[in-house]
Amino acid sequence: MALKDSIPMARALRHFAAALATTAVLACSISASAAAEPAAFSFDAAPGKLPKTVIPVHYAIELTPDLESLALAGSEVVDIEVREPTARLVLNAINTMFASATIDDDAQRADVTLDAAAETATLSFPQPLTAGAHRLRIGFTARINKFGIGLFSVDYPTANGMKRMLSSQLEPADARRIFPCWDEPAFKATFALEVTVPQNFLAVGNMPIVREEPVAPNLKRVAFAPTPKMSSYLFVFTAGELERLTADADGVTVGVVTTAGKSGQGRFALDNAVKLLSWYNDYFGVKYPLPKLDLIAVPGGFGGAMENWGGITFFESRLLFDPTTNPDIARRGIFSVLAHEMAHQWFGDLVTMGWWDNLWLNEGFASWMQEKAASHFYPQWKTWLNGYGQKQYAMAIDARRTSHPIQQPVADQSEAMTAFDGITYNKGQALIRMLENYLGESAFRDGIRRYMAAHAYGNTTTTDLWQALESAAGKKVTGIAASYTEQDGVPLISAETRCSGDDQRMTLRQDRFVIAPAGAPAPPSRSWQVPIAVGPLTSTRPAEVLLLDGNAEIAAGSCGEAIKVNLGDIGYYRVEYGPISREALVKSLALMAPEDRVNFLADSWALVQAARAAPPSYLALIEAIGVDDHRAVWDQAIGSLTRLDRLALGRVERPALQNFARAKLRPVFDRLGWDGGGSGDDDNTLLRYSLITALGEFGDGDVIAEARRRFAGFVQDPSSLPNALRDAVTHLVGISADRASYDRLLALARKTTVTNERLRYYYAAASARDPALAGATLALTLTDELPNTIVDGVINAVASSGEQPDLAWDFVKANYDALAAKLGPSFRDFFIANFMTNFSDDAHAAELAHFAPAQATSGGRVMTARALETIAISADLKTRALPAIGAWIEQRNGTRP
Ligand SMILES: [Zn+2]
Repeated sequence: MALKDSIPMARALRHFAAALATTAVLACSISASAAAEPAAFSFDAAPGKLPKTVIPVHYAIELTPDLESLALAGSEVVDIEVREPTARLVLNAINTMFASATIDDDAQRADVTLDAAAETATLSFPQPLTAGAHRLRIGFTARINKFGIGLFSVDYPTANGMKRMLSSQLEPADARRIFPCWDEPAFKATFALEVTVPQNFLAVGNMPIVREEPVAPNLKRVAFAPTPKMSSYLFVFTAGELERLTADADGVTVGVVTTAGKSGQGRFALDNAVKLLSWYNDYFGVKYPLPKLDLIAVPGGFGGAMENWGGITFFESRLLFDPTTNPDIARRGIFSVLAHEMAHQWFGDLVTMGWWDNLWLNEGFASWMQEKAASHFYPQWKTWLNGYGQKQYAMAIDARRTSHPIQQPVADQSEAMTAFDGITYNKGQALIRMLENYLGESAFRDGIRRYMAAHAYGNTTTTDLWQALESAAGKKVTGIAASYTEQDGVPLISAETRCSGDDQRMTLRQDRFVIAPAGAPAPPSRSWQVPIAVGPLTSTRPAEVLLLDGNAEIAAGSCGEAIKVNLGDIGYYRVEYGPISREALVKSLALMAPEDRVNFLADSWALVQAARAAPPSYLALIEAIGVDDHRAVWDQAIGSLTRLDRLALGRVERPALQNFARAKLRPVFDRLGWDGGGSGDDDNTLLRYSLITALGEFGDGDVIAEARRRFAGFVQDPSSLPNALRDAVTHLVGISADRASYDRLLALARKTTVTNERLRYYYAAASARDPALAGATLALTLTDELPNTIVDGVINAVASSGEQPDLAWDFVKANYDALAAKLGPSFRDFFIANFMTNFSDDAHAAELAHFAPAQATSGGRVMTARALETIAISADLKTRALPAIGAWIEQRNGTRP
């Protein structure tokens, strides 16, 4: 699954990557991990709630959705294997009415007991079923949801009025909302689906259509071929007035499925899917096993993408590229999500984690592969460099007390949802990258091929992956990997040089990097086995890679030479330099590769957040960045300045901080100008976008006025504003909106049927800082006008870029029931806690702590604890950093008129 708010982007290896591959391991004792040795997958030992006495083998499912009443009539025949005699079958169901449940051609009829909290149905038979094969028949009625869980309806605008379609979203545990089933990933089975839908609908499932026949006026019955053995969360059913564009890839039919009239916008995705499929066929060493793969664009319901086997669903703007409205750079994000979901067709679908505690196997790997594939097909995108923020995000949350190990116990479905986070995706991605770099590209790939071949159509644990990699590479990885997967936290490497005659030595010590509010108890200490790349900034001498297990001292060139740790920014750790080595590096900032400058800046900013460095030391580094530096370097600076600016809302330091930011960023923007030439797909285009947005938010009057002028021209003549500028310009019109421009934004949103344009205008309107307009936007979220997919994002935009957090929170509290009904369980379990991180004060923390719905499920309690820590850390940073920064800027202005 690709998350709604995931940052697509990503990579290029450094000039010394080759040097890194030939490694010298200095210290390599494999220390025993604190946790018990984890085991390879076994069905009986796999965690989960359902009894393992009965196993589903094959489901034959019939569904008849009613698009008006949103009822779903269904029946299913399930071939089951009873492993030991039992009179009770326990399977999953929620919001489902059972009409009948019988076994073996009505030989026995079951009493059905539902447990809403456990989301199970217990079928009790008068006589025990004997061990062996049986056939279960169930008639039922389920619901079609308005929010994007289970089978859901989407109402979307077209040139011919509003239309309604259906699609599904089942990970982690919502197949049970469509049909009763053993809805845990270890219960793999085959699925054959038949659906009754309107005649003018195209129905799409995991497999190709094998039969289609009219059954009533305006209705038809569509039957799909049975799937291979798979987990229930990978089932898909989509239907609507859709069209399909296809191409052949290594004998597999690849299709793009869109609402009527939009398939042409799927051309970019289709062409890339064809290339990716054959590249993955080779990489994984196992050919894609289904006869077709559809990429389905859904214009609402959910915001991300989901790797259903053979029928990947995408929120429309994640898949379609419309050259008339999309900037060229949107293709980077589309490719990234496509490569991620297609990697899951093997890593996740063909071979599936045994339980959600090993979710990272799916998501860490797919998140890594999306960047590897982008590096292969589009090296000019420099996706690792530009996607540096993914690892930074993981390290930021992993430095906190409420972090968790990559592998963590998961009790139930609400907890499983909390695992879809920056640790699972981004730390997992960083770990895989580090391991590939450590083992070498071909040895790592051979290990993956062994893993695929050994576990196809089965389940695994992390241990199965390490075993395959070790046997292929002939090199131990379990010790390194376990120190990252079985414990939380970020390693801190302290590095300092000293002269010994003309030679230089560097000491490396490891500790735990922690960001905690002042006065919080220290989290437990940790130790890691960290592969470390260290060396000079120029390629005169290759970087040295050592496995740091404890502390070390190494030779480090000649006295005074600048020596950098984490060369290439591949490693998952922070570096804190001593004063001597830091000074040498700061002097040599311009000699660093962009990856190293990003890494050095990001670590410096993290040390400020951890109260290990004075806040002005980071601003002084920003002063040292060259006007013509790479987009990723400036992006790092913009990101941290934006964070400080948000914390400064309503504080005396804000004007000085904004002045500082404008003074640093404006020359960079003036270098690029409003109207750059080129392809529109280069890093300057991305940097221009970031700078316009940031300068506008920091109150640059010229930039805001020019944005408003260009927008007025665009309204008269859309071709006057290049696609690449539209998001940034519209955003500035939004934050500075008066009633007239606000109304114009809404009018534009209502007029278009293009999803990316609707989002652009609604989000811009939500950024209006005028409280009356913010109130109008909030009221809009209760109507049917906005796609449900963006309601939470729009409320959040009112709080953050609209700078009206209290107004938005009061609105959420006053309308909690209506919003929860509209947005489903994720509103209660995730939205509330995440929303409250817009605040950085004790009073709001206390409000969250006492807001009962946010604590209703175990997943909600996890999210609430994380949010409370985030608020406390923000409060701490605000009171510690802002006065120091304000004083530094004042002093600097005094000394440098
Ligand atoms: Zn995924």
